[in-house]
Amino acid sequence: MSTLLEDEALLFVRELIRIDTVNTGVLATIGDGETRAAQYVQGRLAEAGIASELVESRPGRGSLIARIPGSDRDAGALLVHAHLDVVPVDEKDWTHHPFGAEIEDGFLYGRGAVDMKNYAGTILAVARHFAREGIVPRRDLVFAFLADEESGGVWGAGWLVENRPELFAGVTEALSEVGGFSVPLAADPADARRAYLVATSEKGVAWATLSARGHAAHGSRPTDDNAVVRLAQAVAAVGGHRFPVVRTPALQRFLDVFGEARGLAFTDESLAADLESLGFVSSLVGATTRNTATPTVLAAGDKTNIIPADASARLDIRILPGEDDALRAQLREVVGHGIDIREGRWWSATEAPVDAPIIGILQDAISVDDPDGLVVPYLLPASTDNKHFAKLGIHGYGFVPLRVPRDFDVFAQFHAADERVPVDALHFSARVTERILQTA
Ligand SMILES: [Zn+2]
Repeated sequence: MSTLLEDEALLFVRELIRIDTVNTGVLATIGDGETRAAQYVQGRLAEAGIASELVESRPGRGSLIARIPGSDRDAGALLVHAHLDVVPVDEKDWTHHPFGAEIEDGFLYGRGAVDMKNYAGTILAVARHFAREGIVPRRDLVFAFLADEESGGVWGAGWLVENRPELFAGVTEALSEVGGFSVPLAADPADARRAYLVATSEKGVAWATLSARGHAAHGSRPTDDNAVVRLAQAVAAVGGHRFPVVRTPALQRFLDVFGEARGLAFTDESLAADLESLGFVSSLVGATTRNTATPTVLAAGDKTNIIPADASARLDIRILPGEDDALRAQLREVVGHGIDIREGRWWSATEAPVDAPIIGILQDAISVDDPDGLVVPYLLPASTDNKHFAKLGIHGYGFVPLRVPRDFDVFAQFHAADERVPVDALHFSARVTERILQTA
């Protein structure tokens, strides 16, 4: 028998999936789905007597904020956030309607099933549960249902932090994606212990443009000062460069726990092979051992018989915490002389302490349902809305609890066709999240 809290969480997740909130990243093609989803949440909160504020950064781009007072007036507030938008779907790749929220063989299918209408529906159900049962959480809770995360949060979290920071007054920590799902701790299938990964850190995202300037000339008269050649050499050097391994606290903690459980040393020499042996778990941490700089866009010349004066290339850069200056220096060295590096958007990594008391709260909440479950910090190789809230000094943690079968790869569901989540994992999520938000 499921409880009302669990039933409501499932219902709200399904109803949110049925509101199409696709974020294409192209303003002209984005409708008012986010505002309609925010209105839906607002209506459900109002039924339980919870006031909220709907904020539109632009027409149709709605986010919703609600604050529930806690009992400990000295404790910093906890922000609990979920984005309402989803990435586009290619319907022909789906066997279930992406906005149908159908349930089959114990799985709920739909865009947003794990990214992340599951958490939006769950925290909505928990807020109503608190109101219904007269439960006062320890800390002030700020619930945020946000627009635009999938395109960088410019019209959601980024806009709110810039224009409405008072909504987050007193907030010291945040809970959201990406983490909380279970992965097998041991290699032996007979060992059922699960690790629940908590993202305590997120890689930063930066863009840069390399450019070379040379002598423009006719193609019939080759010159040693050819911008295209010089740029190509720099691009090849960047593409072939491997930045050194950096053992951040989150990575080291992950390696310590999995090394012990699996009998792996994770030395610098064995790191790649040892990570590979973790199976699908390696897809999460494999990209978190180093900084990366990847050439993605090239531009030079437009006529075959003209040597252009300029050539440029754009880089996608992913930075580990505290590595900005080291990466800049290494990149400078790798591209060599005669190449200009211009920085574009630059979001540094976020980093929260791996030993904060809230980690113990997460562990306690998991242990009630899964006594052998172990909460393990890791570094997320991607970036979420936590980067915006970090500007307000808020430490973000990625923890959306989901207990899933040993071979079910939650991370692989993100942005995939037939995105799905086990229904009993959603029930688990509601129970554990209720405990976390009550005691955090
Ligand atoms: Zn997401």
